[in-house]
Amino acid sequence: MRALTFQAPGKVQIEDRPEPTLSADDDAIVRVEASGVCGSDLHIYHGRVPVDPGFTLGHEFVGTVLDAGAGVTDVAVGDRVLACFLTACGRCFFCRKRDFHKCESSRVFGHGKALGNLQGAQAEQVLVPHANLTLRRVPAGLGIDAALFAGDVMGTGFHAVQSAGLTPGESVAVLGLGPVGLCAVQAAQALGAGNVLAIDTVADRLAMAARFGATPIHLTDDDPKKAIRAATHGRGVDLAVDAVGDPKALDLACRLARNAGRVSATGVYTERCEVHMGVVWIKGLTIHAGQANVVGHVDAVLALMTAGHVDPTPIVTKHMKLDDAPEAYAAYARREVLKVVLEP
Ligand SMILES: [Zn+2]
Ligand SMILES: [Zn+2]
Repeated sequence: MRALTFQAPGKVQIEDRPEPTLSADDDAIVRVEASGVCGSDLHIYHGRVPVDPGFTLGHEFVGTVLDAGAGVTDVAVGDRVLACFLTACGRCFFCRKRDFHKCESSRVFGHGKALGNLQGAQAEQVLVPHANLTLRRVPAGLGIDAALFAGDVMGTGFHAVQSAGLTPGESVAVLGLGPVGLCAVQAAQALGAGNVLAIDTVADRLAMAARFGATPIHLTDDDPKKAIRAATHGRGVDLAVDAVGDPKALDLACRLARNAGRVSATGVYTERCEVHMGVVWIKGLTIHAGQANVVGHVDAVLALMTAGHVDPTPIVTKHMKLDDAPEAYAAYARREVLKVVLEP
């Protein structure tokens, strides 16, 4: 089968790879109908996340179940399904606490040996471990592009606000309007936020946030602190979401949050990062951080999508053929696209 593999930093290519075979009782094999190219694929593409040459990339996918082990009971051959970007065993200490994102044997699709050695989904077929927990049927009436977001990007946007305890009527600032930030804007509104303020430098992204109902604020042309103060009786927002993963964004988030407010550090951090602890301490901020619990959230996210309360489909700015995936990566790296969907 054809698959998009990592070769070297800046180089991915379509290769012929063996079709996957079932190895455990609760494995399934999915024929991929659509896969997303994501910001975390870009970390691999740029060599920041080490992956062996020849490893198949991709962790966001929708497809049809081709084959399933005897222990797969929640989906069946022929079902159209979507996947979470990582697997969870369902049985360990963390899974029993529903902290599936910290599963002791978690594996991430398409991220190489360090994250479970699980081949990715930018391919014609993909092996899905623990299919009962990893897969969900695509609800009737939900489009493929929307379903593609449920197990990763919308799950992460949802986590950014839900895990930080958003309650109805609260004000939210979202810093960084990539796909996750835009999904956080939608999720905040779906969960009943009052004012949602969206900050970025890219005009198209600000326009999309406005289309989703947020108040757009340009990071440099406007004065975010002044704009946020004006919108919140001078107090700052109840919740500030850093959807960038950059120390400057995290610092600004701390400054935009109100006294005793919350900051959600949703963008990826793997290294030391300074925040002004005086600001955090004096304001009494609570910082929520880490990877999203997408397995824990996927049913709620799908319900919100099915009811029309969130709809990420406008974030898909390009559809391309799997064979053109190298060009899709290059376009993504040039920041020419928000979300590319690959179709075999
Ligand atoms: Zn992703
Ligand atoms: Zn587990």
